[in-house]
Amino acid sequence: MNTERSQVLYNEAVKLMPGGVNSPVRAFKAVGRTPIFIESAKGDRITDADGNEFIDYVCSWGPNILGHGRPEVVEAVKKACEKGLTFGACHEGEPALAKLIQKHFPSMEMLRLVNSGTEAVMSAIRASRGFTGRDKIIKFEGCYHGHSDGLLVKAGSGLMTNSIPSGAGVPQSFTDCTLLAGYNDPSSVESLFEKYGGEIACVIVEPCAANMGVVLPKKGFLEFLREITSKYNSVLIFDEVITGFRLSLGGAQKYYGVIPDMTTLGKIVGGGMPLAAYGGKREIMECVAPLGSVYQAGTLSGNPTAVAAGKATLEILEQNPGIYLALEEKSARLEASMKKAGLNVNRCGSLLTAFFTDKPVENYDGAVSCNVKKYGEYFNYLLENGIYTAPSQFEAMFVSFAHSDEDISKTCQIIESFADRK
Ligand SMILES: *Cc1c(COP(=O)(O)O)cnc(C)c1O
Repeated sequence: MNTERSQVLYNEAVKLMPGGVNSPVRAFKAVGRTPIFIESAKGDRITDADGNEFIDYVCSWGPNILGHGRPEVVEAVKKACEKGLTFGACHEGEPALAKLIQKHFPSMEMLRLVNSGTEAVMSAIRASRGFTGRDKIIKFEGCYHGHSDGLLVKAGSGLMTNSIPSGAGVPQSFTDCTLLAGYNDPSSVESLFEKYGGEIACVIVEPCAANMGVVLPKKGFLEFLREITSKYNSVLIFDEVITGFRLSLGGAQKYYGVIPDMTTLGKIVGGGMPLAAYGGKREIMECVAPLGSVYQAGTLSGNPTAVAAGKATLEILEQNPGIYLALEEKSARLEASMKKAGLNVNRCGSLLTAFFTDKPVENYDGAVSCNVKKYGEYFNYLLENGIYTAPSQFEAMFVSFAHSDEDISKTCQIIESFADRK
């Protein structure tokens, strides 16, 4: 594989940006390489600056559920651009998208459009604190909720990849209010509530964790969280930035049948543009300015071009319910091949991770015990055979509707040949 041009670009980028990247998860450090630079993408394929083509299973870390450059979405963005890039004022697309979101997430009785998942989560937590008048929050080890200060403790994603248990630059006092519990461990949550019950504003959870690799909620875990938060009048927040519109049109809450008080959405909801959303119970959202005194704002929030991409994407998902069945089938084929190759795989719908450990992975400790060196070998084998996956053990493989049956077959064959490699 020739990576000459990527190397030239990287040498330039690394002088200008930390690690040469604009988000740590894009670095290839954990897999012993420097990043490849992408030139273009279409359908299930991406092409790098040296002309190498790959079948893409990163899919921009989730947004591209329809694959790259779906014509209707691109067309909608072009049309919106013609009318102006940003107004900083109300426009027709905002209530239209909000209504579309709410139709599939009825628990979001009111919502706000923001620019990133980080912002959505930060705002949902602030609203929960404003509503309850309490300061403490519970988060789970290995769950990632964006990079706001209070959430950078035992967070997943790039922090796990780079072994950063708690982020530098975050004052101790900023995380004093963040209580940590174990994923799939109800007793750890119970003891926090017993100790701090009346002080806990909210519990935030990835209803299916996908930022320590994919870790499924055990049967009853989400129901337990629903119960205990109700008992203590705490707000239950489902961070559905990845799972929203992916596990089903109605996200994980529909998939698992457990309804939170607040929901955060990102990734798919923006259709590949910077857009996210948070919302929930009317009485909580009514605390947000200008109705209430919880402040949250944004110059580019509800930006018409991003709204157009999100709306076009959700409309396609809504009009083609067969997409979810197709995603399930494609993903099940990949899972079967990983198992054939002797890999330990967790899968939830179109999210899957092959873990390099013999034990079942059910939480943060299980995930960190994996052999990341082995994962690096796997990553490099796939890459050199034209398959682009996350350069980290602690991320999901994302399957899109654009993944053709032929490309899935090709991927399966390469995965199965991993064990026999030279
Ligand atoms: C990606 C992600 C975020 C952060 O979203 P950004 O748009 O990257 O800020 C938050 N929560 C979860 C579950 C995510 O996967």
